[in-house]
Amino acid sequence: MTDRLALGIDIGGTSCSLALMDEAGRLRKTFDIPTRAHEGGEALIARLIEAAGRVLAEGAGMLGIGIGSAGQIDFATGTCRYATEALPGWTGMPIADRFRAAFGLPVWVENDANAAALAEHRYGAGRGLSDLICLTLGTGIGGGAIAGGRLVRGAHGAGGELGHIPVEPGGAPCACGSSGCLEAYASATGILRMARESGVEAGSAREVYALAAGGDAAALAVTERAARYLAQGIVAMVAAFDPQAVLIGGGVSQAGDLLFAPLRRHLEANPFVRGRCAVRPAALGPAAGVIGAAAQVFLYHNRED
Ligand SMILES: [Zn+2]
Repeated sequence: MTDRLALGIDIGGTSCSLALMDEAGRLRKTFDIPTRAHEGGEALIARLIEAAGRVLAEGAGMLGIGIGSAGQIDFATGTCRYATEALPGWTGMPIADRFRAAFGLPVWVENDANAAALAEHRYGAGRGLSDLICLTLGTGIGGGAIAGGRLVRGAHGAGGELGHIPVEPGGAPCACGSSGCLEAYASATGILRMARESGVEAGSAREVYALAAGGDAAALAVTERAARYLAQGIVAMVAAFDPQAVLIGGGVSQAGDLLFAPLRRHLEANPFVRGRCAVRPAALGPAAGVIGAAAQVFLYHNRED
């Protein structure tokens, strides 16, 4: 018997992952290609289609293609409504149409952070929950919200962009064009900036946490500050969504107790949130994006579209 398979594609600013996945969430074959965003949107879509063709040639029983992409995605049309300069030429890209034309398979496209939330909900740390938030703390902060078992997409595909919750009025500039966003304080980029501003000599957020683990007082103050801002953002998320759990993944989550201990302390000190919402590490690691991308195929292929 041939298993039913989906092709998942996770499109990020630096690299893209492609994987064949079965319905149990097992990845059969994965490989990465560099995004080379500077070459522009047309070059990127052409290379993705070429890579997808190579993967599809190896899988029988293919149900469809699920894609997670950076940017604001119109799920209904599978088009990128808006991407930052991290992906030049990606705004307006009819991603689903291009893949459908190339392969004649059904295609679904979702925002990458939403795809990660889908993955954790279906296969990871959010299994069995109806309401959850998934945050990916990396270069930026990706957010995905599942409410009543459904992804929150909003009117413009920008629902669940939780990294842009304001936490410091008039604060540090953010990649979104606003200022004082959570992303500017609790992403790897934000943590490194705060560290440098307070004279900590580190080349990455990972190094800031390593210094903090070694007892460096200035680094520890920075990691405490990042946790406080993250707690503040999570209080806003709890107010908006009342989730059963907030799952935290991405490179910064590797800091473990240096992140989670002060975060839980702040949340437990808040009478509005206390005892109401678990905060725990996401389970699927960097593969969450491609797993969630592929999961769309199993979620939606029976649905009338
Ligand atoms: Zn922002």
